[in-house]
Amino acid sequence: MKVPFFQFDCSDLEIQYVTEVVRSGWLTTASKAAEFEGRFRDLCNTDHALAVNSCTAGLHLALEALGVTAGDKVIVPSLTFTASAEVIRYLGADPVFVDCEFDTGLMDPETLRETLRSHPNVKACVVVHFAGQSANMSGDHGIVDICRQQGVRVVVDAAHAFPASDEYGPVGSIGDVTCFSFYANKTITTGEGGMVVTNDEEIAKRIKVMRLHGIDRDIWDRFTSNKVSWEYDVVAPGYKYNMPDVNAAIGLAQLERAEEFRQKRQNIAKKYISSFKEIDGLRLLRIRVSAEQHSWHLFPVIVCAATADRDEVIQKMTAAGIGVSVHYKPLHRMTYYKEMYNLKKENFPNTEAYWEGCLSLPIYPSMTEQQVEYVIDSLIKCISV
Ligand SMILES: *Cc1c(COP(=O)(O)O)cnc(C)c1O
Repeated sequence: MKVPFFQFDCSDLEIQYVTEVVRSGWLTTASKAAEFEGRFRDLCNTDHALAVNSCTAGLHLALEALGVTAGDKVIVPSLTFTASAEVIRYLGADPVFVDCEFDTGLMDPETLRETLRSHPNVKACVVVHFAGQSANMSGDHGIVDICRQQGVRVVVDAAHAFPASDEYGPVGSIGDVTCFSFYANKTITTGEGGMVVTNDEEIAKRIKVMRLHGIDRDIWDRFTSNKVSWEYDVVAPGYKYNMPDVNAAIGLAQLERAEEFRQKRQNIAKKYISSFKEIDGLRLLRIRVSAEQHSWHLFPVIVCAATADRDEVIQKMTAAGIGVSVHYKPLHRMTYYKEMYNLKKENFPNTEAYWEGCLSLPIYPSMTEQQVEYVIDSLIKCISV
């Protein structure tokens, strides 16, 4: 049996919507992107949604709109993809890396509070809803509250977290700006793409201008409004970060299926959890939200070093025809960040403990029951011999 790590779930709907766009003759940003934004805004319960060509672009635009500039400091977890931190460098600002909470892999509000105490001039904080569950954002001792008290802006990297929520509402509605990813292997995909949502009108305006060359109104407006069609102004050296309609068409189809996808991943997660929770030598992340609030984007397990070697388990799983992955080799171990910021792994004990044993199992809607059983049996075999 073969079980790939991920498989794109394509229905007739994606094909139909893409065909409509291709036949229309207008391939770049226009009505489909606008429709995609509208649907997303409603689902996230926010005032603004702006489609972009990647989550990385969205994070860059978010920090730029918040005024992050050269010499500023921005807090970011070490346990994340490099995109969460590289955007800080794009602006000439410096990341301040923080360790994760031991049992969830998420940002720990207490660690954040201590970090802000030793770095009083932090401008913003990038929070990652690791694997698809929301970090502790809201309430009296939540991340947003701690940041507000210090005048620190909150950017959410929700690349793993659609659709997801916590007891206070959908991911996207909490924090200053939230960025989603529609990269090929995310919970919903447009091939490449992302979405930025916010309730702040000024931030939304700035992002809208900066995602398309710093032009004061987007291409669609130029060609559809009654104003003089050739005239536009450039107010800043912006970027080329708009989402083409071909991609938005795939996104619209995927969006209609997003909750069905999530439910299917949840069913797989439930089987994994009930099969692995009693197994010696395997640790699972603690789930702090309800099953329905989790997007279940990744299913990481942590292999205890005393039981088995993570790299060997990966080799065996691969040999059994199962695609597994590692999320993530922490940023404090990456040459660039390690050397640039003189990072020591002793300062990231929880991230280290997680990283040494972690591997991510396949979890996607088209997985069959037999495939799920095969992954479970294979992993248990791998760690018990
Ligand atoms: C995938 C991912 C990104 C980048 O998303 P793109 O759409 O590929 O730019 C950023 N952060 C995290 C945590 C991710 O997993």
